[in-house]
Amino acid sequence: MLTLPGALSPPIVPNVAGGAIATRVRVDLHLHSSASFDCRVPPLEVARRCGQLGLSPIFLTDHEGIDGARSLIEAGEPAVIGQEILTNEGELIGLFLKKLVSSQLSAEETVAAIKDQGGLVYLEHPYDSGRRNLREDAIERIAGQIDIVEVFNGRSPEELRATLGVPAGAGSDAHTLAEIGSVFVEMEAFDGAYDFLAKLRDGKVVNRRPGWKSAAQRLFVNRRRY
Ligand SMILES: [Zn+2]
Repeated sequence: MLTLPGALSPPIVPNVAGGAIATRVRVDLHLHSSASFDCRVPPLEVARRCGQLGLSPIFLTDHEGIDGARSLIEAGEPAVIGQEILTNEGELIGLFLKKLVSSQLSAEETVAAIKDQGGLVYLEHPYDSGRRNLREDAIERIAGQIDIVEVFNGRSPEELRATLGVPAGAGSDAHTLAEIGSVFVEMEAFDGAYDFLAKLRDGKVVNRRPGWKSAAQRLFVNRRRY
């Protein structure tokens, strides 16, 4: 049986859906469920684990689909509909979506599809060539439309975030239960996309990954060793 790391202590928001008025929340902005082709954890299991960890609302960002997030909302779970979208130039995440965004559009068309429905453009794992990262020239073309840059994922996202002047986001990119909440943001409770974006600026990114080192730290360690 899989043992999972314990809950963050104590959960800040036991249950936002239950009507609790929280002043601070913890959110993992990048989560997958079995609605993604490469994850086997059912959405309700993801929700249960988020509940144990005090992560609420649940940002479900499945590949090319929003049915998992929709099913959580139908089940009364506090969820934000996200989607990790494969454009024809790499991936982008849309947050606070209402409907599915088509795959294989250009970066500009994808951004427009997200913004037209009041969503936010969240650039995940920028410059990480080990993933389906958005191509550098596409990032340049849509730079003014990126709302959030994911940090703790990718080569130099902090530099890009600072250049764009947008808030940092963070999520575990969990594809298994054990990964949920390894990275999260602690921030003021919010109401909707724009309030979330405004309050994210004062959010605190927390990284619980054991032994995690930045690329710069790893380079330093390697240089010392050899
Ligand atoms: Zn992902």
